[in-house]
Amino acid sequence: MHFEFATATRIVFGEGAAATLPELVRAFGAHPLVVTGASTERAAALVSALAAETFAVAGEPTVDLVREGARRVHDASCDVVVSIGGGSAIDAGKAIAAIAANGGEPLDFLEAVGNGRALAAPPLPFFAAPTTAGTGSEVTRNAVLAATQHGVKASLRSPLMLPRVALIDPELTYALPPAITAFTGLDALTQLIEPYVSVRANPLADAICVAGMGRVAVTLRRAYHDGADREARREMALASLFGGLALANAGLGVVHGFAAPLGGSFKAPHGALCAALLPHGMAANIAALRQRAPQHPAMDRYAAIARLLTGRNQASAEDGVDWVRALCDELHVPALRAWGVTEADLPGVVEKASQASSMKANPLPLTGEEILAVAMAAR
Ligand SMILES: [Zn+2]
Repeated sequence: MHFEFATATRIVFGEGAAATLPELVRAFGAHPLVVTGASTERAAALVSALAAETFAVAGEPTVDLVREGARRVHDASCDVVVSIGGGSAIDAGKAIAAIAANGGEPLDFLEAVGNGRALAAPPLPFFAAPTTAGTGSEVTRNAVLAATQHGVKASLRSPLMLPRVALIDPELTYALPPAITAFTGLDALTQLIEPYVSVRANPLADAICVAGMGRVAVTLRRAYHDGADREARREMALASLFGGLALANAGLGVVHGFAAPLGGSFKAPHGALCAALLPHGMAANIAALRQRAPQHPAMDRYAAIARLLTGRNQASAEDGVDWVRALCDELHVPALRAWGVTEADLPGVVEKASQASSMKANPLPLTGEEILAVAMAAR
């Protein structure tokens, strides 16, 4: 057996931890660029404590936005980048820190649609403080960017891009509205299920996935129905962190294979797409395994997932799918058509999804027809 496991140098977790951020940042730089989501409110204290420059990211990050952010770093002579926000703000900041230190055009470094050039210089020191519980981007080494002209999302990826400090303060998630809680929470669940059945699964990631799935099973509903449930918010913040650690070290699968082309072509949050696809992706994998590889180790893993989610010792792999489906209904997850995905779009999406990097870690290769069937069912 051989595996590698890389993570952020330092993970700081706890209620109130955000108050320590100015001090942590000061050790790395004198003039930070603070990257936020559309609302800059939660970063206000940090910005004033550090006399920082701010850079707001309204939607999911694009190549153009990262170019603009890197220019801001140069114009204002910033020496450290801090993201406080959801996955979009974190991925934007992560990419800005990398491009600002390396110069050049973001597309030069982008996988798939770009030149995939390796970073030569380490990024500026980068801090990530998530305000949602879902993406786990605070501990991953890639930033997902939309290359608008190409109608796809692709990653800027380098081991050098792991954030210097991941600071997770569950209090930052208390104000999340139910829909965002649902989408991000189901993204976290997807990022715990896919690495657990991935062809790159490893014992350390497995332990993290199991600990994360158990938390989602008990607390996502609670966080959705009562955003002030402190314990549920804490457990979901942990589950999100665990999902990030797992996906960065064990890969993803069919659901995230779709997230790249769909996210590049439709105005839909990443988590909402994953949530709509999750039960159908699980069902397709389980059916394909039963048909073509009943002895495959992923079969037992799907049954283990079902036991964890349902809390029943006798649960079958399919019972896990039913549990996820019921959760999506309860959390009012809309089908893909709600985001403007038409039946005519599907063949193009399927073509791109088959080529996506996440698809390579799926427990077994799915046929074109099986992949199309996932998209049809999720639409
Ligand atoms: Zn995801």
